[in-house]
Amino acid sequence: MAPHERARPLAPGSPYPARDLCSQCGLCDSRWIAYVRRACAFLEQRFEAMEEHAHGRSRDLDNEDELYFGVHQRMLTARLRQPIEGAQWTGIVSRLGVRALETGLVDAVLCVTQSADDRFTPVPILARTPEEVLSARVNKPTLSPNLKVLEQLPGSGIRRLLAIGVGCQIQALRAVQDSLPLEQLYVLGLPCVDNVSREGLQTFLESTVSSPETVVHYEFMQDFRIHFRHSDGREETVPFFGLDTPKLKDVFAPSCLSCFDYTNAGADLVVGYMGATFGRQWLTVRNDRGAELLALVEDELDTAPVTSRGDRRAAVQQGIEAYDKALKLPRWLAELFGLVIGRIGPQGLEYGRFSIDSHFTRNALWVRRNHPAMADRHIPAFARRIISRYRLPSL
Ligand SMILES: Cc1cc2nc3c(=O)[nH]c(=O)nc-3n(C[C@H](O)[C@H](O)[C@H](O)COP(=O)(O)OP(=O)(O)OC[C@H]3O[C@@H](n4cnc5c(N)ncnc54)[C@H](O)[C@@H]3O)c2cc1C
Repeated sequence: MAPHERARPLAPGSPYPARDLCSQCGLCDSRWIAYVRRACAFLEQRFEAMEEHAHGRSRDLDNEDELYFGVHQRMLTARLRQPIEGAQWTGIVSRLGVRALETGLVDAVLCVTQSADDRFTPVPILARTPEEVLSARVNKPTLSPNLKVLEQLPGSGIRRLLAIGVGCQIQALRAVQDSLPLEQLYVLGLPCVDNVSREGLQTFLESTVSSPETVVHYEFMQDFRIHFRHSDGREETVPFFGLDTPKLKDVFAPSCLSCFDYTNAGADLVVGYMGATFGRQWLTVRNDRGAELLALVEDELDTAPVTSRGDRRAAVQQGIEAYDKALKLPRWLAELFGLVIGRIGPQGLEYGRFSIDSHFTRNALWVRRNHPAMADRHIPAFARRIISRYRLPSL
């Protein structure tokens, strides 16, 4: 008998194995908790083994693009020519899920809908119809127990699965992949950073936006502003540099403050935005399965090559110090700073590197201060190389 055939999901109310670092990925809410010691991204990071298993090789640390964005065959930017109403960006992810079902590539799509009474409370499902995939469009910007639905696989008749998820979910999924009752698994990843619990989201919205109760969508965008959409269609934007850092420093989940898998290293195909110019999505094809996924929608996309402009390094260094001192700029200065950096600051892949550098340095400092005993083994080699390019404040 395999370990998961003997195991039971964690009983409600029991502490999760990763304790305060748990990202609620859902693995422990399934019988695949049996493998949590080697599967949990916060108990043991295994980037090289995961990349080799998923892509046939680990990233080349001497190749600057792979150092930052992981193993890949191809990167491009794109928009769906007919955007999906209500999607996070143009809806490439949802369209891929729909096509994967329609073409018979898979029997089901693991995705996240929302609870009936709260738009921001995630409800993971195994979608069997295009309508169910579409009902999962748009981000639920909170920790989501996606892997909980693995529990529904045995006896479901699902043999081929497309799983959509963020890095911590995908790291755990890859670690248990060979024990799942599947013939084929495709993985469509989202880049992810700074996620929050549902309560944390409330604090963030209340300190940042004019009417938190009407927000239906938000995104940190490449113009260095957060764009909020309200239920009446109104759009409100706030400059990153105007955030209430003293209040928000503790709002992000500890799992996200100790994560170095921003670009979702284990996915076959990753669809985000931060390596693209404003308004476009950014796609990273990591392996042949990722190319197969992209081929499902490529003729519906307006595509363009990735570009890169500017130099992020001075802005990252200044940001490290400002964040550490928890400085809050007056609104007029934040607006001015945002305007200038939006015009002359990093764009395209350089914006992606700006965001990765800023988050890796912040997270390395957080791990070294809060979990010093695990810092050396937890921070992966690629992140250590990136962090070493900056001066960090003392511990
Ligand atoms: C919490 C979070 C943080 C992100 N941060 C970044 C970032 O910093 N940089 C960047 O480039 N991209 C980031 N992304 C990805 C980006 O915001 C878009 O989701 C992506 O570009 C796809 O857009 P779309 O219009 O094609 O998606 P849609 O077609 O709207 O589909 C969205 C998909 O997201 C899935 N989903 C929703 N909420 C969650 C969740 N909590 N956990 C797992 N899956 C979920 C749904 O299942 C759905 O299939 C983030 C996504 C999430 C969920």
